[in-house]
Formats: sequence, C-alpha cells, structure tokens
Amino acid sequence: QPVLAVVGRPNVGKSTLVNRILGRREAVVQDKPGVTRDRVAYDALWNGRRFTVVDTGGWDPKADGLQASVTAQAELAMRTADAVLLVVDASVGATTTDEAAARVLRRSAKPVLLAANKVDDDRLLADVASLWSLGLGEPFPVSALHGRNSGDLLDAVLHALPSTPRESFGTVRGPRRVALVGKPNVGKSSLLNRLVGEERAVVDAVAGTTVDPVDSLVELDGEVWQFVDTAGLRKRVKTASGMEYYASLRTRAAIESAEVAIVLLDASEPISEQDLRVLTMVVDAGRACVLAFNKWDLVDEDRRHQLVRELDRGLVRVPWAERINVSALTGRSVRKLAPALRTALTSWDQRVSTGQLNSWLSDLIAATPPPVRSGKQPKVLFATQAQTRPPTLVLFTTGFLEAGYRRFIERRFREQFGFTGTPIRLSVRVRE
Ligand code: GDP
Repeated sequence: QPVLAVVGRPNVGKSTLVNRILGRREAVVQDKPGVTRDRVAYDALWNGRRFTVVDTGGWDPKADGLQASVTAQAELAMRTADAVLLVVDASVGATTTDEAAARVLRRSAKPVLLAANKVDDDRLLADVASLWSLGLGEPFPVSALHGRNSGDLLDAVLHALPSTPRESFGTVRGPRRVALVGKPNVGKSSLLNRLVGEERAVVDAVAGTTVDPVDSLVELDGEVWQFVDTAGLRKRVKTASGMEYYASLRTRAAIESAEVAIVLLDASEPISEQDLRVLTMVVDAGRACVLAFNKWDLVDEDRRHQLVRELDRGLVRVPWAERINVSALTGRSVRKLAPALRTALTSWDQRVSTGQLNSWLSDLIAATPPPVRSGKQPKVLFATQAQTRPPTLVLFTTGFLEAGYRRFIERRFREQFGFTGTPIRLSVRVRE
C-alpha cells in the first residue's frame, strides 16, 4: 500500500494531525527536543482506501540542530514515501526551518502537499495565503485540533498517492526479501539447506510479520532474512525438464517479489545461456544482486583459469556485483553471503543528494564533455537521483547522449559513490 510521510517542525501540531488522519484521539508521542525516536508507521483508511502514514518525527538537537533534523526528515520522507505532507503552523507563518524543508521537498519527484495547521477560525485564512511562498503549491488550511477541513486534506492526499505503490514491498519493516535463483541442478536446494543448517535457526514466525507459507525465514549473520518462494526447494521437488517454461515463470515471480537475488551459478561448468537469462531477469527487474559460484569444491586449476577467461570476456555483464565462490557441499564461504546481501541492499537503498550529485557531475563533465553529435555539443544541465530501489538517475540535457557516454557516467557514478551490487538506471530528459 502507498506511503504518506508527514514532515514538520516540532509544535506545528504534526502528531495531532497524524492522529486526525488515523481517525483516533489517543496521543502519539509528542515531538520534544531531546526525544529521538524512529519513524513510526501507521495504517490509515480513508474513503475505502488503505495507505500507510509515516510520522518522521523525533529530532535530536545534539546532532545538528533543528533545521538539519527537519531537512533530514524531509530527505528521508522523500526517499521512502510515495507522497509527502509538510505541516506548518499558520499562526506562526513560514519559518526558516520550514523554508529549508520546503527547499528539499521541492526537489522531490514525488507529490508534496502543504498543510497549514492551527487555522481554528477564518481570521487566520489571510495568513495561510502567505504560505504560497514556500513554493509547494496551494496550502491546505486545517485545524488538526478541531478536525476542520481535514477531510479535504485527506481527499487531496488520496489523490496524490499512486493507486498502486511504487514498490511492491514494505519499506518500513519486515525481514529483507531474498530470491535464490539459478538454473536447475545448480545447487539451490543444497545451498538453502546449508544456510539453514549453518545457523541452526529456521524461524517460523517473526512477531508482527506475515510470511507466505512458501517462503523460508532464515537467520544469517544475526539477521532474519526472508527467502521467497522456497517451498519447492525445501521439499527438494525437482522440476521436470518439460516444465522449463514454468520454472522460468516461477523464477521471474520470485525475483519480482524479492529485493535482492542470489544468482547461483555452477562454477564447475562453463557459464551457460541459461545462467545469463536468469541474470538478465534480475537486472531488468531492477533488483540488487549477489553472484555465487557454487560447487567450488569441484573446481580445479584448469577450470579456474577458464572461468577467469569467461569473466574477462565480459560474459557476465554485471561487473558491479559481488562474486563469492561457495560450496553448498562443504560449506565453503557460505558465511560471506549475508554480508554481501547487506552491501547490495545498502547500495540499492542508497540515495545521493542532488547537491552532491551535481557538484561531482559538473567536474566530471568539465573534464570529459559528451561527444559532439551532428555538430552540436549536448549540455548536461543537472541531474537528480529520482529514485532508489534501484537507484535511478535522471539527467536533464540539451541533447541526446550516446549510450557509450551514458555508460561512462554510470561507471564513474559507481566508482564515486560506491554502488556495489545494484543495477543503476539512467534516463536522459532532453530539454530543448
Ligand atoms: P537445485 O536444482 O538448484 O535445487 O540443485 P540441488 O540443490 O538439487 O543440487 C543439484 C545437485 O548438485 C545435487 O546432486 C547436489 O548434491 C549437487 N551439489 C549441490 N551443491 C554442490 C556443491 O557445492 N558441490 C558439489 N560437488 N555438488 C553440489
């Protein structure tokens, strides 16, 4: 379900408004200086539609002061939510902190709504108009305390939220979802059993989460992971050869519902077409990825050299993915999988700020400008990382950028900001 993040200074009535949205009166923790708390998410229902409200609250004056905390909230909200609601106090007007938050939110590709709270009577409506200056469009006058106009605000919120969430998995809680994929007989069942056996801890239920019975919860390296669609693997059900089409659908579905994939290859055999197909599915789906070369116990000197040559030829077109040589049989290096999954997911979730991105990019482009096409030098105006999961860069340019140059930017971007284990999407918007 879609996510709405609520952002604002302490004392603007954010908690009261969140309660109002949730349709209840009980007190949510007040924003107080020195009270740090994690994001809290709630389920809300309005006009028959469900959505999640994330109260980004809590700020830590020890950290960087109020303004930095509120801007950090806004950044976080932008990254995690489908729409953001900035709450300001109409009786006070826009403060410099509100302005800083608005500046961050104006960069957001996601819809941003502005609530002018504490409009308890019409006399304050004149002050509301001054909030247009925040550059976030029309301010919604509300009184969280009395419930005034909150219905109109909620209608606007629903309108702004996508009917289907941008990401099909929760961003707030629950174990991270892993797909263990690879062609038949590569050792998926063996590896899963090994992972379970290693830690002697298959968790059947984690409080507060619902797990599909076809998934396995496995504790690795002190963290519970959800291996999706592993029922067949656990039962060691073999896919008949005629079922290949079905197996590939199943693989695709597992990848879609996961956040990260372990792509298992058989290190003892030449890399095959089928391996590359699975890998392409992962990259096309935009999932994070770890490559595990299994059956390493069977790899001799000759095969090792051959594998190096295969990789040098660029056969496996994911130079950014971590490669781990494992053996499900002996247990070799299977402990390295969890840290690699974590690294890949961190990259997958990572966002580079627009400021950082552009100062790096302008240096890069000054040193290596885009190639001239039909007598014209395309200019890159600015860029923004519009999305995470996977990281998606949008470049605004005055002309077409060649594929080779786009790859160059992607490669340097990875080097600069360290995006190991995630595909990166790059799109170019030509502004004439
Ligand atoms: P799946 O179809 O991908 O689930 O593959 P399985 O886990 O059923 O394994 C296929 C075959 O490879 C079985 O005979 C396993 O015993 C064998 N196998 C799996 N992992 C290893 C390994 O690391 N080393 C060796 N030598 N054999 C393995």
